[in-house]
Amino acid sequence: MKEVLVLGAGYAGLKTVVSLQKQAGDFHITLVDRNDYHYEATELHEVAAGSVPKEKISYPIADVIDPKKVTFIQDSVVTVNADAKTVELVQHGQLTYDYVVVALGFTSETFGIPGAMDNALQMTTIDQAVAIHEHILAKMKAYRETKDENNLRLLICGAGFTGVELAGAFADERKVYADLAGVAPEKIEIICVEAASRIFPMFDDNLAAYGTELVRKVGTNLMLGCMIKEIKDGQVLYVTNPEDTEYQSLTAGTIVWTTGVSGSPVMAESGFDQRRGRVVVGADLRDPAHQDMYIIGDVAAFMDTASNRPFPTTAQIATRMGAHVAKNLALQLKGQAPVDFKFKSLGTVASVGNTHGLGESLGVTLKAYPASAAKKMIMNKSLLDIGGLKELMAKGRFDLYH
Ligand code: NAD
Repeated sequence: MKEVLVLGAGYAGLKTVVSLQKQAGDFHITLVDRNDYHYEATELHEVAAGSVPKEKISYPIADVIDPKKVTFIQDSVVTVNADAKTVELVQHGQLTYDYVVVALGFTSETFGIPGAMDNALQMTTIDQAVAIHEHILAKMKAYRETKDENNLRLLICGAGFTGVELAGAFADERKVYADLAGVAPEKIEIICVEAASRIFPMFDDNLAAYGTELVRKVGTNLMLGCMIKEIKDGQVLYVTNPEDTEYQSLTAGTIVWTTGVSGSPVMAESGFDQRRGRVVVGADLRDPAHQDMYIIGDVAAFMDTASNRPFPTTAQIATRMGAHVAKNLALQLKGQAPVDFKFKSLGTVASVGNTHGLGESLGVTLKAYPASAAKKMIMNKSLLDIGGLKELMAKGRFDLYH
């Protein structure tokens, strides 16, 4: 019996498993993840803001795997040894495989900026998102005692999709925070500090301008052209001109780091030819040097031949890669050759709070409520694709028009 090892139960890895377990054949799957649950990484900002509980964006892995075909091991991967065909785990020692799917996901990218890891809150896991929410609640309560206005200031580092969506979620919860602190909602300050002079680089000028205005309209102080250089305890240091040697400063009780992500550090630890934790994969999603190894999701750089750049790492592409790898593994297990992965994005939509958003889908520009509804439909689709009907009914967002 062939052994298929899947590392990571995010969008890419779990989709591989739920698709492959439906295939007939003489194989067994082992799935490894550090958590015994899957979470919707695209919705962490809502847990961080306190708009939804963590249970709303996560479900047990046991709910969706078939125990007759799959063994789940809760553990962390230390290294993958591609030549020996082994994987080292922290607690369970060594595993061997015939085929491996490396889908170890993302981590926060600090670009080596001093203090970013220690003095800013990260938002890449459920526990970190919960910690942000608890931190904010503690700061609001502290304000009642100290009257220190820093406690009312929420500062987001970076205005990519993650930063913008977090700002929108904070704005939605402004009244809750204000009530806790005993102040008027306007006293809660939301600041987003961004190095670029224009945000939403993937959208045309009109849509980007609409989005920028939307982020500001919900009450975010969006500071463009401010490159963060250092984070101290409760303080962000930045420059508005790259030549500046003297830093400007902002203080805030809550500082969240959302300046981008890189692939799992395991890729570098394992000696892969990687950049920011991502390995350039072949057209069929295999590691070019190892025909029994697929690398997918946020640890993969899959080239877009039209632009000659890798596709951005998103939940959408990760899920589609997972489905494709299940198909390719089924072919390989039957002794047939795997086929190439083709990707065409269904669109990109960002929410700005629960009822607003912007984006484009299949050439159509989406704004305001339709964009927000589209985002919820995309999330519902990923729940359905991986978690099936049960998770969709339990966690799906059906308030599409509110
Ligand atoms: P990102 O790389 O897209 O954005 C990071 C932002 O931080 C950039 O605007 C960058 O200019 C800024 N930045 C970097 N260094 C800085 C510094 N020193 N000072 C100030 N600003 C700085 O990262 P992200 O937003 O975390 O998104 C990661 C990936 O996930 C992207 O591909 C994104 O499209 C995707 N994503 C998609 C959705 C969605 O589809 N709704 C939501 C969240 C994330």
